[in-house]
Amino acid sequence: MLTKAPKGTADILPENSYKWQYAENVIKKLCADFGVKEIRTPVFEHTELFSRGVGDTTDVVEKEMYTFNDKGQRSITLRPEGTAGAARSFIEHGLFNNPQPTKLFYQISCYRYEKPQAGRMREFHQFGVEYFGTQNYAADAEIIELALMLFGRLGLKDLTLRINSIGCPHCRKAYNDKLKEYLSANYDELCDTCKSRFDRNPMRIIDCKSSVCKDIIKDAPRLIDYLCDECSEHFANVKSSLDNMGIEYEIDPDIVRGLDYYTKTVFEITADIASSNATVCGGGRYDGLVKELGGPDTPACGFAIGMERLFLCLEAQNVEINDESAMQIFVGNIGAESAKFAQKLVHDLRLLGISADYDKLDRSVKAQMKQANKLGCKYSVIIGDNEITEGKVMLKNMALGESAEVELNAQAIAKNIEENY
Ligand code: ATP
Ligand code: MG
Repeated sequence: MLTKAPKGTADILPENSYKWQYAENVIKKLCADFGVKEIRTPVFEHTELFSRGVGDTTDVVEKEMYTFNDKGQRSITLRPEGTAGAARSFIEHGLFNNPQPTKLFYQISCYRYEKPQAGRMREFHQFGVEYFGTQNYAADAEIIELALMLFGRLGLKDLTLRINSIGCPHCRKAYNDKLKEYLSANYDELCDTCKSRFDRNPMRIIDCKSSVCKDIIKDAPRLIDYLCDECSEHFANVKSSLDNMGIEYEIDPDIVRGLDYYTKTVFEITADIASSNATVCGGGRYDGLVKELGGPDTPACGFAIGMERLFLCLEAQNVEINDESAMQIFVGNIGAESAKFAQKLVHDLRLLGISADYDKLDRSVKAQMKQANKLGCKYSVIIGDNEITEGKVMLKNMALGESAEVELNAQAIAKNIEENY
């Protein structure tokens, strides 16, 4: 127990954390390129935020939330996703008073009580983007552009973007009636979950994974054929915006998304890898959410990318990631006097912004160089009595195996390293 992490969680170990840092840096730069600013919200929120904001007919709220009473008997939930918290914060801090749109991103841990498997964890991580305050179709297209550009910058290939429109409350109501009419003949055969969805949110039955329900729903009407004029025009404009940017997509009338607050555009991005959990990104428009949570009527759209799934895809496609945090130079020493010299030299190098380290385990020179290799050091020097008296040292490029003589001081070494990088 004591030395085993809870089921469905994973440690990110030092040998892998550089991959996360790399992806996070790419994300930071990308968001800056799009004028999207970071928001950080708490890991836990009032439970009601999620039951209202995610929707109490969703799998997330019905089955997957980590909910508990705190010592003050408040019902608290660990966030299962990031949109509700971002919307809550947008309202609480009156961000709607700023010039719109408000373009936000977050990189967060999320918590869902699920059956753990590859790409499905109980603690997982999302990179998400939310645009508040514009109903323009170009916003829908821009968030899709951003998500795809991230995958492009990370070197992920063979992605499929599938889009759909699930209309607005107006056209969905008419559609729900049609769908219920169609389903009523087979009502008794539906699974229990879908029976309960029948009145509360019949569209979600399209999303059911049970084979019986799948069979029943196969030829059922799809919302995309019942859109009102406004929703239909919005969808046409999203498509032509994507066309304008040369972004390819498929139309998939079966995407309904699990979350209740979605309106109009919904989309998913899947990677072509051998895993059933290849949906790396899900998103869409949710014009009803901010008002539902008590804020002013504010249109919005966004997406979330599952980071663990993203790394699964990168691994499946053998995309290499360089360890940018690898040490630049290892300073080897021989004996107590030179160890003292190494300590000061490393200190001076670090002051100059060069990443440097030296031995603290009294290893042999050979073992020190082995350690330097293990750390991925690009350069090394070995300091003995001769080097100290002569004030010169051989600077070795570890990868090339080449050495050059340089003056034994931090400035000279730093200059050489920087010029050669
Ligand atoms: P799924 O149908 O796979 O359960 P979802 O519809 O529940 O996905 P969203 O709520 O849209 O997923 O979350 C956005 C993204 O977060 C997903 O596309 C996926 O990449 C990731 N994700 C969702 N749940 C998990 C999980 N339990 N573990 C890891 N990643 C997840
Ligand atoms: Mg899910």
